[in-house]
Amino acid sequence: MNPQARTVAFQSGERNIFFHILTACNLSCRHCYINTGQHGTETLPRETMERWLELFADKSKKSNVIFLGGEPTMHPDLSHGIARAKSLGMAVTVDSNGFLFNDILEKSSPDLLDYLSFSLDGPDAQVNDPIRGEGVFAVCTTNMRRAVAMGYNVSVIYTVSNLNIDHLHRMIPLLAGIGVKRFFIQVIGLRGNSAKETVGEKGWQVSPEQWLAVVPEVAAQAAAAGIHVTFPKVFLGSDEPFECAGLVTENFFVFPNGRVYRCPLCEDHPIHAQEIRDNRLVEHKGLTEDNFFQLSIAEGCVMNKLLQPDTISYDASGKPEHRISCCLLKQEIVP
Ligand code: SF4
Ligand code: SF4
Repeated sequence: MNPQARTVAFQSGERNIFFHILTACNLSCRHCYINTGQHGTETLPRETMERWLELFADKSKKSNVIFLGGEPTMHPDLSHGIARAKSLGMAVTVDSNGFLFNDILEKSSPDLLDYLSFSLDGPDAQVNDPIRGEGVFAVCTTNMRRAVAMGYNVSVIYTVSNLNIDHLHRMIPLLAGIGVKRFFIQVIGLRGNSAKETVGEKGWQVSPEQWLAVVPEVAAQAAAAGIHVTFPKVFLGSDEPFECAGLVTENFFVFPNGRVYRCPLCEDHPIHAQEIRDNRLVEHKGLTEDNFFQLSIAEGCVMNKLLQPDTISYDASGKPEHRISCCLLKQEIVP
């Protein structure tokens, strides 16, 4: 374990709104988690996007909104959404696949958009493009450079799987050379396409041993290169408490069909805790994710145990070798 890595405790006075403003996308990534059967196919009209932002505005709390899709820059009114969120006092991030449609760099500004995050799954086209699509690496890195040159804070999200974990360390010179400020290393979840399609003999998910051998070390190297790194905790130490974000934080995963989840692992199932109806946020009745958050099990996260049981290994006495942390629990290294 790298001594500089710090677990980012859940902040009770903070709220995060993960706002999917459409589900359409120009790409077809092999691990895409978008599930139109569950999330709808709507593109939210500008008025609706602004009304829904207002539902989650609470000036007494530090609020972060992350605009997502599909590809959010395909929304012709994204720049209006960014401006409205900022006027509501929110910190604003856009997560893009790098194509930056609708002249978003020109229509918005670094004063309104706190972070522009690019998804990149490899340090070169040979690693990235088999996962995200032919030609994507070139477009994405060109636009990252353009955004940096225009004064935007640029971050990168790298989804670690068996297809790219061996290349993670090569991201550091690339990101440092471009001027990327933050690096988010994610673990692949078995949702959407990655739950349906298997890859190679080892499958998508890396083993605990691989993860622990590679990710903390690369994160430390990235921080040494001046990049702020965030990566999921995944495995709890025996002395570390387990907490479910669904009980202790305010996270809202909002979809264009009005579903509002508190836990991203639940998104493939109609068990959302809340929904937006007639521009009002209401409780979703019946069996919802809230019922699962209360359960206390030796394996840690209940939804991980239900949906991804292969990620848990047991010793000879039947005790889990690692407790799985909440997927929202992060570690960070600040340079
Ligand atoms: S860019 Fe995002 S939404 Fe589009 S296909 Fe890839 S993972 Fe899915
Ligand atoms: S990932 Fe697990 S621990 Fe985190 S909110 Fe969901 S159910 Fe709770």
